[in-house]
Amino acid sequence: MMFMLDRINVKISPDRFMFFIFFVSCLISCPAYLSAQSNNDNGVFRSPVDIDILLSGNFAELRGSHFHTGIDIKIQGKTGLNIYAIADGYVSRIKVSPYGYGNALYITHPSGYTSVYAHLHRFNIQIEEYVRRQQYASKSFAVNLFPETGLINVKQGEVVGKGGNSGSSLGPHLHFEIRTTDNEKPQNPLRWNFDVVDNIEPRFHNLIVYPLSDGATVNNVQRKLLFSLQKSGHNYKVKNNAPIKVADTIGLGVYVNDYLNKTYNRCGVNQLKVFVDDALTYFLELNELSFAENRYILSHMDYALKVDRNIKAHKCFIDEGNHFSGYKFSKERGRVFVAPGDRKHVEVHAIDAHGNKSVLSFTLLGVDPVNANQNIPVARVLKPGQTNHFENDDVHLVFPSKSLYTKLNFTYSSEPGSEEMYSKIYHLHDKHVPLHQRFNFTLEAPGVPNHLKNKLYLASVAQNGNTSPVTSKVRYDKGRAHTRVRSFGRFALMVDTIPPEIKPVNIYENKDMTSEQGISVKITDDATGIDSYNGYINGQWVLFSYDAKNDLLYYEFDEYLPQDSTLQLKLIVSDPKHNTSIKTINFKRSEEQTNL
Ligand SMILES: [Zn+2]
Repeated sequence: MMFMLDRINVKISPDRFMFFIFFVSCLISCPAYLSAQSNNDNGVFRSPVDIDILLSGNFAELRGSHFHTGIDIKIQGKTGLNIYAIADGYVSRIKVSPYGYGNALYITHPSGYTSVYAHLHRFNIQIEEYVRRQQYASKSFAVNLFPETGLINVKQGEVVGKGGNSGSSLGPHLHFEIRTTDNEKPQNPLRWNFDVVDNIEPRFHNLIVYPLSDGATVNNVQRKLLFSLQKSGHNYKVKNNAPIKVADTIGLGVYVNDYLNKTYNRCGVNQLKVFVDDALTYFLELNELSFAENRYILSHMDYALKVDRNIKAHKCFIDEGNHFSGYKFSKERGRVFVAPGDRKHVEVHAIDAHGNKSVLSFTLLGVDPVNANQNIPVARVLKPGQTNHFENDDVHLVFPSKSLYTKLNFTYSSEPGSEEMYSKIYHLHDKHVPLHQRFNFTLEAPGVPNHLKNKLYLASVAQNGNTSPVTSKVRYDKGRAHTRVRSFGRFALMVDTIPPEIKPVNIYENKDMTSEQGISVKITDDATGIDSYNGYINGQWVLFSYDAKNDLLYYEFDEYLPQDSTLQLKLIVSDPKHNTSIKTINFKRSEEQTNL
């Protein structure tokens, strides 16, 4: 039976699909066969572009707060390149947002996968018209639509949109994903036979060694050390090849990237393996991700290196509160104990999605541990896997059980706030330590005047005194402010009473707009940011799209533009603290030229 299923998997193609479905439904009570099925769809998908696939980002590479859930395909540095459906299917979701994926299209295929095309400039005409109808019906630019199955069907190779730079994209590219439809888990698209040329092996940049136990040292110091490397072919050694002296229990980390042919971009590795004296102690494999787990990256990577130097390095040991399922095997969660006098030979293997491999090797030499008697003032010990509280006269913190990745000697202090602050500045532990789940943060803030109580927001305060908003979701009650945050650092309460600014770009009072294609305005808000934006012409809501990264609102003249001889634009823009700006501008547009 297993043999028969394997044969069918290899041969599966669209015309055999119905037979396959029938066959799988016969096996529905046997999940092992189903998972075998979901791993093989070779030959069914075509490329989403009609140019060579060059990647500026690959699957699972380390990003700021997530593993990258797709591949980034270059589109010749411009918007407007055709984007194609990789297989027959139906449009199952369309999301339009000023942030994140921008204009994103989801196509569900009969083989059990959904392909995702993000940062699009436009959708094809049929989809574009459907989206615009929904936007006008809901009077909202941002929409998240789930068209009924069969409403918008697409054929393999059909143009579904134009490549672009919408959302949080930093340059034109196609962010492309393949997810399993039933659980939305992103798969490594390079497991299918997309034509990506890669015969370049990963490159190690640094080895990092961490003292993990109380008496642990690395080359006689009680802090982590970064080692420079020297390369010879596919093999890397620590510079000068001297053994690294370690005491007690240490952890390893590597700063490593992958590179692909014909592109300069740094990509990520697919596998990392650590061998200590030839025995596997750690195995990371990144072929499948899960949105529910993606924040574990903060624990997986060296978060302090990322905060201080924007270096995204893999830790090869697993924090207690890290439940990422990319770890396929580990011994002692990747921690290595070295007894005094012991020599251990270590190899780290970095392997990319095409099987290209580099090997870093070095020797650990055990020395005596030190007596740990650090006199750091500790406010309270906090532990992962349990609810933790911290309370004093000024603050009350409640950490849910999934907040912490490791045990913490929590530190706390406070200092007087500046004139524009409505609380002290609270120093909550250390911004170099990541958190998984938000904690409840209640802080004393007596003396907030009544009219400012709904204008409060929490700001983070840098060492130089500069402030930036953390969250505008602050509830004020009986002299205390309640909010939730997901990072440590220095915080204070501030107020936002200043409405957003609206600056016309191509329109002014009484302008004849006949020769213009649409209306552009710039909107900005200094403190808490833009929350809502609505444009009306002669009282009719019209679709202003919002390009948040460029602070631009744009209305392209369409059939909803009133056909009156005099026109008045009214824009209403608010921040999350209900500070609102309204701007009205009269303009003209002659009808006979509208259709030119
Ligand atoms: Zn991407």
